[in-house]
Amino acid sequence: MIRIFTVNKNAMFNFIAFACAFCFFSSDQTLYAKPSLLNHGRFTVVIDPGHGGHDGGARGSRYNEKDVVLELALALGAAMEDAGYKVVYTRKTDVFVELYKRIGLANKVKADLFISLHCNSMPLNKKNRSSIKGVETFVSGSGRLDEQDIALRENASILLEKDYKKNYGGYDPKDPESIIILSLMKNAYRTKSIKFASLLQKEYNKDGRLDRGVQEKSLAVLARASMPAVLTEIGFISSPEEEEYMKSSKGKQEIIGAIMNATAAYKSN
Ligand SMILES: [Zn+2]
Repeated sequence: MIRIFTVNKNAMFNFIAFACAFCFFSSDQTLYAKPSLLNHGRFTVVIDPGHGGHDGGARGSRYNEKDVVLELALALGAAMEDAGYKVVYTRKTDVFVELYKRIGLANKVKADLFISLHCNSMPLNKKNRSSIKGVETFVSGSGRLDEQDIALRENASILLEKDYKKNYGGYDPKDPESIIILSLMKNAYRTKSIKFASLLQKEYNKDGRLDRGVQEKSLAVLARASMPAVLTEIGFISSPEEEEYMKSSKGKQEIIGAIMNATAAYKSN
């Protein structure tokens, strides 16, 4: 009786060990073939509130970009979780996170979509600065070298990082011509990124926002993305009207609704 039990126990152990090894091996293969299964089939969105900590981003008359986008990101994430998405944040508090780490996190969790939230701003010396309004969404790409003002401003966060030249393949925001390095990085998700960005701009426009379009820019936070990735400028913080809109409950609801609708439309496609 004891002997039979021992044999059965060993047999059972061998069977379990084999089954586990088989499951591990086969699931591993499947996971790499279809990354979203890593997230148990749930569509995973990485929400990236721009700037943070000692990098305040653009400054409005009352608020800092880093605070406006963080507040919106947390509310957007909560709405997305309620809708059944898996949400991962690059930051949930007022901390500085290097740009390459943000997209690195999205790659690591095998996100289906990466959304970086920012506020636009006109330079201080720009005529009619406070009256320029609208929304625009960027995808990673080369774009025109003489139209990289926004990329240079958003990439300037890198200057606050240690070893930035090492982490961005030699790109230096102080040398505008080196921006070409970012645009040469592999961008296998260009078409899908443009698709999502276009859907998003269309949704903003439904709320009466001025549509400034989708553009390709050499943005450090989007370089090396292994999924469709966009940087959306949700409004101009240099416009007092849009600054107030982005902080109002109506504005927040509309912006979150636009991103949710665009995500649902993109997912169903
Ligand atoms: Zn920004």
